[in-house]
Amino acid sequence: MDIKVPRGTQDILPSETGKWQVVEELIRETCRMYQYKEIRTPIFEHTELFTRSVGDTTDIVQKEMYTFQDRGDRSLTLRPEGTASAVRAFVEHKMFGYPDQPVKLYYMGPMFRYERQQAGRYRQFVQFGIEAIGSADPAIDAEVISLAMSVYQKAGLKKLKLVINSLGDTESRVAHKEALVNHFEPHIAEFCSDCQNRLQKNPLRILDCKVDRNHPLMATAPSLTDYLNEESAAYFEKVKEYLSLLNIPYEVDPNLVRGLDYYNHTAFEIMSTAEGFGAITTLAGGGRYNGLVEELGGPASPGIGFAMSIERLLLAVEAENNKWADLSTLDVYVIGMGEAAKKKAVELTYELRNNEITAEMDYLDRKIKTQMKSADRLKAKLVLVIGDDELEKQSAMLKDLATGEQQLVPFSTLIEQVKISITTQVEAKEQ
Ligand code: ATP
Ligand code: MG
Repeated sequence: MDIKVPRGTQDILPSETGKWQVVEELIRETCRMYQYKEIRTPIFEHTELFTRSVGDTTDIVQKEMYTFQDRGDRSLTLRPEGTASAVRAFVEHKMFGYPDQPVKLYYMGPMFRYERQQAGRYRQFVQFGIEAIGSADPAIDAEVISLAMSVYQKAGLKKLKLVINSLGDTESRVAHKEALVNHFEPHIAEFCSDCQNRLQKNPLRILDCKVDRNHPLMATAPSLTDYLNEESAAYFEKVKEYLSLLNIPYEVDPNLVRGLDYYNHTAFEIMSTAEGFGAITTLAGGGRYNGLVEELGGPASPGIGFAMSIERLLLAVEAENNKWADLSTLDVYVIGMGEAAKKKAVELTYELRNNEITAEMDYLDRKIKTQMKSADRLKAKLVLVIGDDELEKQSAMLKDLATGEQQLVPFSTLIEQVKISITTQVEAKEQ
C-alpha cells in the first residue's frame, strides 16, 4: 500500500503549526481592531452559487472547481473562494436588515481549486478574507485595503507593493468592453481558445490571460482608465485620497483586472517584492462588487472585500528571512524519581498546567540523565526534580536552565516561585 497526501495538498506538521497559529491569531486580532466579525460557512455549496457569482467564463469555474454529485443527485462544489458564500449568507440571513451597516465579515478556512501545483499554489489552501457589505463610501475601500496591509505588516513584512485600479461602474465597463472587442477581434485567431471564448462573453478577462500575456496586442489594449465615466473617476480619486491620508503607498496599474466576474470600481492586489519569493508575487487580491448581492437574490447592496492565502503569507515571511515568535517553548519539565515522587510529579504537572504554565514530564520511565536531555531539547526554562529527599521535605529542587542555579522550594510556594523564576529568566533574556 502506498498512500500519500493527494497532489496539491500538504500536511502541516507540528514543527510548522506554531507559525500558522501566530498568523491566525494576528489576523483575528486585527479583525477585532477593525470590527470585522467572523462568519463560518459550509465547505461545500450548490455549484450554481459559484457559476452565478464567480462567473462562467472564469478560470475558477471553467477549470478549477471540485464538483461532485451527492447521493441525492445534487451538484455540489467544494468552495474555491469565500466571497460567494459570505454574500449568500448575507442574503439568506437578511443581514441587509441589520441595524448596523455596513455588515463587516471575515472568514478563514480551506478553499479548493484544481490547479497545477507549484510554490504558493495548492489544491487545498487556507484563505483569510473580509467583506464589508452595505456601503459605497470610498473610505471603506481604504479601510479594507489598510486591514490587509496591516496584517502583512504585523507579520513583519516590509517588501510590499500595493497596486490599485478602477474597473468603473457598469456604464464605463460597457463602453470599455466595446473598445476591447474592436481591439482584439481582428486578431483573435492568434489567441488561445480561452481568449477566443472570452471575446464576446467577457473580453476584460483576456487582459488577465496567463497564456497570451506577451501578445503585442495586450500592451496596446484600450485601458479601462480612459473609459471611466465621471462618477467612476471621481470615486477612484477619493479612494486614492483616503489611501494617501493613511500614508499607504500605492501604484496605479490600469491593466490590473481581477480574475472574478463580480468586481467593479476598486480592484487591488498586494504583492511581495522580496527577492526569492518566486514566480507568484501576489499575496492578496480584492475589490468592490456592487452587483453581487443583487445577483444572489438580495436587495442592491454595494460590497468590497479581499482574500489572501496564509500559505503565501508564510512564504513571503520566509523570503524576507523573518523570525517567528516561538510558540512551542516549554516552561517547566518535571522529573520524579521513584514511585512516590512520580505520583507527585504527575500531580505537579497537572497543577502547573492549570496555572497557565506549560509543563511536560516523562512517560517512558527513562533515567534522570535522559530526562534532563529531553528538557534541554524541548528548551524548557526550568526543571523541577523530586526524589525521596525532596519528598520528605515536602519540596522540589528547582533548576534554572539558563543560569544553572538551583534552589529547594516548598510545595506550598512552588507555583508562585516558578512564575517568578520564569519572569526573571524572560526579563534577563530581553536585556
Ligand atoms: P492567481 O492569479 O495567483 O491564480 P487568483 O486571482 O486566482 O490568483 P484570488 O482568487 O483572487 O487569486 O485569491 C486571492 C488570494 O488567494 C491570492 O492572492 C492568493 O494569496 C490566494 N490563492 C489563490 N489561489 C491559491 C492557491 N491555489 N494556493 C494558494 N493560495 C492561493
Ligand atoms: Mg488562480
